Parts: sequence; C-alpha cells; structure tokens
Amino acid sequence: MGMKSHAHRVYSNSITMMHLKLRHLGIAFAMSLASSGAAYAESPLPLDQSHSAPSASSPHWGYEGDIRPEKWSELSPEYAGCKIGKNQSPVDIEHTYTTSLEPLDIHYAIASQDMVNNGHTIQVTPANDSGYLQLASERYALKQFHFHSPSENLIKGKSFPLEGHFVHADKDGNLLVMAVMFEAGAQNKQIDVMLNSLAAVGANKHLNEPVEIDALLPKQHGYYRFAGSLTTPPCSEGVTWIVLKTPVTLSQAQIKRFETVLHHNNRPVQPLNGRLVVD
Ligand SMILES: [Zn+2]
Repeated sequence: MGMKSHAHRVYSNSITMMHLKLRHLGIAFAMSLASSGAAYAESPLPLDQSHSAPSASSPHWGYEGDIRPEKWSELSPEYAGCKIGKNQSPVDIEHTYTTSLEPLDIHYAIASQDMVNNGHTIQVTPANDSGYLQLASERYALKQFHFHSPSENLIKGKSFPLEGHFVHADKDGNLLVMAVMFEAGAQNKQIDVMLNSLAAVGANKHLNEPVEIDALLPKQHGYYRFAGSLTTPPCSEGVTWIVLKTPVTLSQAQIKRFETVLHHNNRPVQPLNGRLVVD
C-alpha cells in the first residue's frame, strides 16, 4: 500500500470515528468519501436515530422489562459500555467542589425546527447553525434537545418531574449536554408549543411555530459540571455535562402530559467512581 492510499485510509478512519461518535447521538451524516478528495457533507437537517427509533443496526432498548437499563449491556456488544463504563450518566450531584467556572455564553436563535416522538423521548432538531454555546474558548453547536420524565440527574438527591437535555457538539464532534431541570409552577408556553404539535410515535413533524429555546432556560446560568456519558445506549463516554442549578417551571397539567407521553424514560443514577462535580 503506497503512501497515498495509506494516508487516505487514516483519514477515512478518523472520519469514521467521528461519524460513529455523532451517530450515537442521532446526528446523521450524509457521507461521501470520494476516492481522492475524501470530502463529506453533513446532512442539512439531521434526524435523530439514537435517543432513538429502533433501527436494523441497533438493538431495541427501553426502560421496562427485558430491555430496561439494567439489561442494556446484555442486548448488544455495542452496549457493553453501559455496564463497564466508569464515567456513566446520569449521576446524583451531591458533593460539589467550588472552582471558578467560566460563565456560559448561550446563543440560541429561533429557527426552523423538526420534532419527533421517537419512542424514547420527544426530540426537537433545529436547523443547522441555529444556535451555539460558548464555553471558554470552545464553541459547541446545538444539535437537538429532548426530555426525560422524571429527571435523570438528581441534585442532592432531589428528583425533578422533567429534565431537558440540550445536546451540542464542537467542530471535532466532542459532545456537551446542558441539562435543565423543570419543576411544578407557572405554565410554560414553549412546552405547549411542543405538546400541542405532537404527532404519532415515529412521525417527524415540522414545527410551524418553532420553540423559543431561550424561554426553556432559567435566567440564571449557574451550573454544575462533570464528565459523563450518553444516558442511552450505547452509553458512550467523553461527554461534558453541564447541569443548570436553577430550575424552570411548567404546570402540573403539562407535567402530566409529559408523563403520559414519555412513560418514565429515565436511566437510574450511576456511580461517580471518583469523578468530581465542580460548580
Ligand atoms: Zn437525554
């Protein structure tokens, strides 16, 4: 194998790794590895495959019975990390170490969005380039957001009725999930935008009225930070977790509707194994 083809193979492998990393979060890439140029194009509107509608390549998993979280690692060798991983999410944020964390710099635009109830969660996928989060020198583009009921992470042992996950990726495919807790209180208009547009499971729906993402976030952006994983198979690690300290509200009736649709889609908390949570 000559120099040229070797270089191409190395390049292809690194692209494949990045593709896999992103695919696990349901970011579908239209890849074309031309034999010479090796260019690839990101599909303009990635649809979730992960948090995810079952596909031929990824075994079905869920939250109850034989496919519940405790069984995920047995469903496929691909899911082994769910059991042997040492940096798994979610966690109970109990002891924290105070440092001087960089402020979050959030820029979400109101843009075209698609929504799907994929059988595991309700997920909204905004158009590309519709928002990012800047953390120190790193910029993370918003890829999708979705919900778990009740919350997956706990704050000092406390569970919340709903947790939103805002999934981001930097230019190298490194993932950052910002979690927002919801508690009972005033009705949340943006939650209604989603609930009123729900279609049948699996049916992708374009939102005529996009969700104002900023309205799903608290005014204060103080946060906890720790290293973790995807909370769904394949439970891939290397995910930066940001959990906002201040919850936002939704009404009791909205909580009920989420519970009805999501059916307790929360993975139990995982051991910290020596990880530090900083705030
Ligand atoms: Zn999630």
